[in-house]
Amino acid sequence: MARKTFIAGNWKMNCNHLEAIALVQKIAFALPEKYYAKVDVAVIPPFTDIRSVQTLVDGDKLLLSYGAQDVSPHDSGAYTGDVSGPMLAKLGCSYVVVGHSERREYHAEDDALVNSKVRAAVKHGLTPILCVGEKLDVREAGTHIEHTTAQLVAGLDGLKAEQVRGVVVAYEPVWAIGTGKVATPADAEEVCAAIRDTLAGKYGADVAGDVRVLYGGSVKSGNISDLVKCDNVDGALVGGASLDGDEFTKLCALAA
Ligand code: PEP
Repeated sequence: MARKTFIAGNWKMNCNHLEAIALVQKIAFALPEKYYAKVDVAVIPPFTDIRSVQTLVDGDKLLLSYGAQDVSPHDSGAYTGDVSGPMLAKLGCSYVVVGHSERREYHAEDDALVNSKVRAAVKHGLTPILCVGEKLDVREAGTHIEHTTAQLVAGLDGLKAEQVRGVVVAYEPVWAIGTGKVATPADAEEVCAAIRDTLAGKYGADVAGDVRVLYGGSVKSGNISDLVKCDNVDGALVGGASLDGDEFTKLCALAA
């Protein structure tokens, strides 16, 4: 089955709920309904914005999807500050980003915790966007493929092949996130192809052929076209450029 291009905008800790409404309205206005036949688009706002985004998407029957930036491994209980899979599912979230390098770095999330979050997402019908990727020292040592595929295997541990089929993987070299240093299309393709090969080895070529593998790291309208031309790059996880409605919709249009 041909994989449909997917562009997800990770807003990180930006936009209050009023700003979120304005940004979603701008995106909805700029991308006509027919656009979504070619590309899936999602916004990933902070938790505090999700209810407002849901109201807009439901009220105006928008084809845009949305998700969250994190999920607790637990369903409920004494976990102050956490937000659970059932809560996100109830808000109509389709996706949840898991294992973003900023959470690995600032919240000490290791592969085991990332895996428990992936499992929590799948358990509650949310599509995990599993982020993997190397820091600069690993890239310079030339072990970026081993490092990234090990994160992938650990992140998916315990999932059945049919569950893996629905997962989205985002290859995000840490040295390219928020730095303006985009990996070349060849760099992105090399690792995204290795991710697919690893999936094929563990879950079969059929499953691997359906998994969408995104590239993330300083993606903008100026580089998206070349990235999505790569055989194994099925779209992008976009940070900074997703906060500017004009730039984000230009980028989306160029990904089609
Ligand atoms: C991200 O946060 O996932 C990301 C890729 O950020 P940026 O596009 O700003 O590099």
